[in-house]
Amino acid sequence: MQDTIHTDSRESEMATEAYLQQLKTTFGKLPNDIALYLFTAKGHEDVFTLANRRVIRAFREISSKITLREYDLDHELAQKWNVTSSPTLLIAPERFAIRWLGAPMGEEARTFLEILILVGLGQSNLSDQALKVIKRIDSPRNIKIFVSPTCPYCPQQAVNAVKAAIERPDLIALEIIDIQSEPEIANQYSAQSVPQAFANDVLIGQGAQPEEVFVLSLQKLEAQTIFIPESDAELVETDLVIVGGGPAGLTAGIYAVRSGLRTAVIEREALGGQVATTPIVENYPGFTQVGGKTLVDIMVSHALQYVQIYQGEAVVDIEYGTPITVITNRRKFLAKTVLLATGASHRHLNIPGEHRLGGRGISYCSTCDGPLFKSKKVVMVGGGNSAVTEALYLYHIGVDVTLIHRRDKLRAQDFLGKQLSENNIPVLWNTEIKEIRGEQRVKEIVLYNIKTNETSTLQTDGVFIAIGYTPAVELAEKLGLELTEDGYIKHDGKHRTNIPGIYSAGDVEGGYKQIVTATGQGAEAAMTIFEDLINPYWMKDKQKEIVPG
Ligand code: NAP
Repeated sequence: MQDTIHTDSRESEMATEAYLQQLKTTFGKLPNDIALYLFTAKGHEDVFTLANRRVIRAFREISSKITLREYDLDHELAQKWNVTSSPTLLIAPERFAIRWLGAPMGEEARTFLEILILVGLGQSNLSDQALKVIKRIDSPRNIKIFVSPTCPYCPQQAVNAVKAAIERPDLIALEIIDIQSEPEIANQYSAQSVPQAFANDVLIGQGAQPEEVFVLSLQKLEAQTIFIPESDAELVETDLVIVGGGPAGLTAGIYAVRSGLRTAVIEREALGGQVATTPIVENYPGFTQVGGKTLVDIMVSHALQYVQIYQGEAVVDIEYGTPITVITNRRKFLAKTVLLATGASHRHLNIPGEHRLGGRGISYCSTCDGPLFKSKKVVMVGGGNSAVTEALYLYHIGVDVTLIHRRDKLRAQDFLGKQLSENNIPVLWNTEIKEIRGEQRVKEIVLYNIKTNETSTLQTDGVFIAIGYTPAVELAEKLGLELTEDGYIKHDGKHRTNIPGIYSAGDVEGGYKQIVTATGQGAEAAMTIFEDLINPYWMKDKQKEIVPG
């Protein structure tokens, strides 16, 4: 056993070393130097300033192309570039208008790495479809992206904006703003959730958008939800398209490629699905306790050993035929089979104020937005595993949280319920929220006690909602798949749907909705698909005429 542990740690050291070597090689090939300017208030050594120095030092050990100059806020360069907050990091200000208010910590280190590489390359790497749109912008755009270090969705949106600023330095200026470092600016914009994107002070995106949707929103100065590629979009032929990069989709990808199938995994947002925002996972075998995002990172790096992942691409349509055409915002896949592992999306309370105050004190992601409410008063709505796990997370990071549950008994596992009472987290039982009130942001909620029929109000800074999920079946419905009474995809024991060549796996199938069951379903579905492509069950009367592919 001891030998195994030593071997594992040697392997992980070797993997880290190999990754560093790879980074050094990448940076070595960059044609441009990357000049960083850090501006700080004299004698003000806050956590963000120290983090900037630490992160930049780490990158400078990888590449001598990165230089750092540090100045006080009263330096003439601060005036020249109009820098007023501490710390502010300017990135290659002679060439681009990109600045970071706060520090590239946590998840944001990924954004920072992309910035360094793109600035070093001197090109945006925007897709052809996005380039066509951005060329149409003919007046200045000042972008603000609000981010936080714990938000797995933020890097995608921040990188979209970085690419735009690199592509059009003549017209596009970008500020990436850490919402905790700059609470006053966040307040000014009533930005209480991340990521949020503003251009010329207009909200153009809440949450992470696919690159093309972001650029279109930027061009139109209005949030867009969909981008249909032009007819010259790239065509990719493949055996299997997996829609969804959560545990089911990633596992299916590993199994499919190992079976010899040409496979593509498509994910429009952060990889890992709900797990990416689960604070702590305690029931995935092999890990007594692991952060949801850490578990996702391990799964993703495993999957990437095998399967190509198209992250940040949204499937906008699927045309059934031979082959099946899967259209994303960037390209078209011509596939023999499709696996829908589309998961589920947050359920809403559907009460007055919920939609209007979204992102202004209402949140469905405690890992993303919880840190913004430290020392503040919030409520967590729900009585299931998600609500209790997230209430515990909020409590442990210093948020004053009260759980609100509509019944007198939790749906969550006993183990979690006990932790709630051991930590004396208050619970309002038999209570429903009827309304969320506030002008610019959440101020109070209206409560109704179903036992006493009493209505009351409660002052609160935030409302976190974790009341379960509804299956993401838009594509299934477009395809005409049969659904169960509860709205999940109807499937047989081998994950086949009623349409030949279309399969399902994971939370979109209903059932227990655990990470471990989703991975199992993904593996089973991939093995079925492999077998079906060899012996298609849809072949009629032993004729060699195959419906899909
Ligand atoms: P869930 O198990 O469906 O629980 C939803 C909770 O929200 C229930 O307590 C429900 O109340 C309440 N609710 C539903 N609609 C409501 C409404 N309109 N107003 C007020 N309350 C409402 O959802 P979940 O907690 O998100 O979990 C989803 C799945 O993920 C589950 O299978 C869960 O086991 C799994 N999960 C597991 C873990 C873990 O194992 N650590 C962590 C997170 C999630 P009632 O109880 O009255 O129905």
